[in-house]
Amino acid sequence: MTSPRRTFAIISHPDAGKTTLTEKLLYFGGAIHLAGEVKARGQNRRARSDWMKIEQQRGISVTSSVMTFEKDGVTFNLLDTPGHEDFSEDTYRTLTAVDSAVMVIDAARGIEAQTRKLFEVCRLRSVPIITFVNKVDREGRPPFELLDEIADILALDVAPMSWPVGMGGLFEGILDLTTGKVSRPEGDSRAFLGKIDDAPTLPADIAEEVELAQAGYAAFDGEAYRNGDLTPVYFGSALKDFGVAELIDALSRHAPPPRPQPAEPAPVAPENKEVTGFVFKVQANMDPQHRDRIAFMRLCSGTFKRGMKLTPTGHGKPIAVHSPILFFAQNREVADEAFPGDIIGIPNHGTLRVGDTLSERADVRFTGLPNFAPEILRRVALKDPTKTKQLRKALDDMAEEGVTQVFYPEIGSNWIIGVVGQLQLDVLLSRLDAEYKVAAGLEPAPFDTARWIAADDPADLKAFMDVNRSAMAKDRDDNPVFLAKSAWEVGYVADRYPKVRFLATRER
Ligand code: GDP
Repeated sequence: MTSPRRTFAIISHPDAGKTTLTEKLLYFGGAIHLAGEVKARGQNRRARSDWMKIEQQRGISVTSSVMTFEKDGVTFNLLDTPGHEDFSEDTYRTLTAVDSAVMVIDAARGIEAQTRKLFEVCRLRSVPIITFVNKVDREGRPPFELLDEIADILALDVAPMSWPVGMGGLFEGILDLTTGKVSRPEGDSRAFLGKIDDAPTLPADIAEEVELAQAGYAAFDGEAYRNGDLTPVYFGSALKDFGVAELIDALSRHAPPPRPQPAEPAPVAPENKEVTGFVFKVQANMDPQHRDRIAFMRLCSGTFKRGMKLTPTGHGKPIAVHSPILFFAQNREVADEAFPGDIIGIPNHGTLRVGDTLSERADVRFTGLPNFAPEILRRVALKDPTKTKQLRKALDDMAEEGVTQVFYPEIGSNWIIGVVGQLQLDVLLSRLDAEYKVAAGLEPAPFDTARWIAADDPADLKAFMDVNRSAMAKDRDDNPVFLAKSAWEVGYVADRYPKVRFLATRER
């Protein structure tokens, strides 16, 4: 019997405390022994991924990683999503690979822009959410205000599971609304060191709040949560260790195990014997010594065994997966077996791409991993014309990883790259220089947006492309793309060609 799996991600706005909480989850889950090892801005994080210069320069986490820990017989796979808003596309894809999410909110700030965007993605895929209101050891907004904001902005029922006994200077612990016990701060650090008050006397104002809260909000309902209609809310302080053990416990008790995944010809249930999975992320050059790349695959069904042959649906021959990688905290470990919900890293030389389905028989295809229409287009200007080949390789590689999209115009030789956020442009230039030794610049492109085009009748598509050749390009997979000067132009052209579909996302 395998242990139950909980595959989840943390969504939050930058600075809400995702890194701190991740570190504490790993610590409480027994995966690391020294707090501080996952810290984003210090020496430690640098050691973990110094292959990416930009990460150091900006002090932010650009790439996602996977961390696995076990607690009380449950295996947790935590997929780290980049917090920076410019990396939304990568983040969206990571969210396709989880079964639930933890939403971290800063008690002083409430729901912020990035939290909301990420929440919308979770909602699209009915990913259930546990809310963690962080930093109650500091002055924050009143709990009622925060709960009402979550309920209003996200249109969710909220079920408070715990309650802060004061905040900031008045913080005296966290009341567990189920057991009635209070975890107390201790010592100079005012952290949670294990002191639990079984029969607490609450200050009168807090007792009144709690009474009101229990009468006023929904009681926890496991089914409503798993349907994505209700979020249980925990108050805590990742920094001071409040609420972290409770959060792990909640994931373990309530978060859904691996769910059936959307696929053609039919959704794939985890009980299915055949090994299937999909690639949601590809990362190149994790180890600067080797030009390797790792495809991150979420296993959807079957028991994966090392050395197994898997076939990417739609292209390529079966590949034998001899050295799959599991991610236990910072260490890469070689996996012998993996189960539905697990993430495995598959080293390869560029055969595997984001969106690929891998399976034993190559007769399924997972759906729903979108490419997003880029919002910023730039023309790539090569400084040394003898480097054309290297440039093409670099652009293809990065498109494959999902860092940027690349479009090859039908006419002319100015390649165009597309991104959803400004920071991706910096990443592109920095990597061109550091990894591919290509000096290039970016110039404004005569286009502002792009749409994938399709039509039921190929003749309609061809007619459109013939007339609009100067605005036509191919993406990395040879799909036709219409480059437009503005969103308005897309609308205008779409009206004139009703049989052609202009698509802002392309599902692979
Ligand atoms: P991220 O950007 O969401 O990953 O946030 P970090 O985990 O890096 O935290 C941002 C800042 O908030 C850091 O200075 C943390 O030390 C601080 N922080 C995180 N959690 C808490 C908390 O529970 N209480 C307090 N007072 N500060 C916190």
